Formats: sequence, structure tokens, C-alpha cells
Amino acid sequence: MFGVVPRKLWSQVCPPDDDNRIRMNMNCVLVDTGSDKLLIETGIGNKWPPKHSAMYGIDRARPLAETLFEQTGVTAGEITIVVNTHLHFDHAGGNTRIDADGNAVPAFPNARYFVSRAELDHAEHPTERDRASYLPDNWRPLVDSGQLEPRDDDYEVVPGLTMETIAGHNRSMQCWRLQRDGVTMFGFADLVPTRAHLRLPWIMGYDLYPVETLAAKKRLIPEAARNNWLCLFYHDPDEPVCRLREGEKEFIPVPYREEEKDLS
Ligand SMILES: [Zn+2]
Repeated sequence: MFGVVPRKLWSQVCPPDDDNRIRMNMNCVLVDTGSDKLLIETGIGNKWPPKHSAMYGIDRARPLAETLFEQTGVTAGEITIVVNTHLHFDHAGGNTRIDADGNAVPAFPNARYFVSRAELDHAEHPTERDRASYLPDNWRPLVDSGQLEPRDDDYEVVPGLTMETIAGHNRSMQCWRLQRDGVTMFGFADLVPTRAHLRLPWIMGYDLYPVETLAAKKRLIPEAARNNWLCLFYHDPDEPVCRLREGEKEFIPVPYREEEKDLS
């Protein structure tokens, strides 16, 4: 998760277990516009055989649809739009679920699913380096059902929510920008997966184009601090929503707290 950064450094911030794994979340976002109930990302899903589940240490009390209902009262059938920043299994894994016959079927039966056309194309023709991240069961059932709608490199999902392609992690991953009542929330997706990745050289070994990741971080992190954006760190296990403050040497994440909810 930290590329060229020495273990001695990152392990102080993200202590690994005996198998060298660190804690990570998949922080999906629900947006209710009044007319649409929209889900950004769907997590890692529950199609995993026990062997892989143990290997990744997938540990969760409930599947996404149950958590969604418990925390928001929204059912899977009420979701009208699902957006994926890209199709890696830890972002699009909950797009589908296994039905009683053992087939992968859409997990949100009434939703349109949006993903960039370039990303869909890449997912169908990955390189040897990133093939393991693309599991076709996460999108092909949506193509078959007619629910997948390929989109442009930059597009508007609904008024106030836009997607923008930012190269680095790959060539077609998108970040999202939600603007409402003068507040901007920015989803960094895998550009800055956790708060620890705010440090410029802390870039994932998974990235196909790390120098482009660096350039995008140098542009967007100061912009986020300057404009007081709420930042969503998709994989952060503890404080996924933060504002950024410029420190002497680096940008410091300031967790978004309960009491702020009334303001924004
Ligand atoms: Zn990814």
C-alpha cells in the first residue's frame, strides 16, 4: 500500500499484522438528492470463496445492503444510481451478489450503474500487472441486464455531483466532486486511499503510473486545503472524512466530527 516507502516508516503509522497486512475500510457513500438515491462505490462484495476471504482477512459484520438499511433505512431496491470510480474488486465488488442458483446478479436491481467507458474497456483488457484486480463477475452481469451505462472521462452524474478522470492509479480511474450549499466534498478514490497517503511520496505499489499520481496529489491536496473541502478517503479505517490544514512540512487531516454535521 505504500510503494517505495520503507516498512520502518509506514509500519509506525499503519501497524501490520503477522501476515504483513494493514487495516483498511471500504467507505461507500450514499447521496440522497430527493429524486435519486445514489451509491458511490460498492465495496469488496460477498462473492469471495473462504480461501480468498481468509487471505485478505475480510472481516465485516454485515453485507453492504444490510449496513445501508441499518444506517440509513434505504433498501437495495431503492438505489437508483450506482457509481464506480473504477472497477477494481475492492470498489465494484458489491455491484453484484450471488443468487440462490450460484450466479452473479445485480445487487441493486433497480439501479443504473455508471462507470467510465475507458475504465470498462481497460477492465476487459487488463495488463498482466493489474489483471488480478479485475473480476468480470463485478460488471458483466450488469452489461447483460442492460443496467451498465458507460460514461465519458468527465461527466455529471446528477446536478452537483461530477466525476473526473485522474491518471495515476491507472489511466481511467475517476475521482468525484459533490457540491451542495457551498460545501464541496471530494472523493479521492485510490489517488489518496487513506490519510497516511497525504504525504506526497506515499504512493501505492499498485499504481501503474506513480509519477502521475504524484502530480495529481501536488495539485489537488493543496486545493483541498485552500478551499476547505471535505475529503473522503475511501480506504481509511478510522477517519474517512477530513478537512485538510497546511502544516509546516505536510498537510494535516482534521477529522470531520459529529458536531459539524449540523453545519454541513
Ligand atoms: Zn483500485
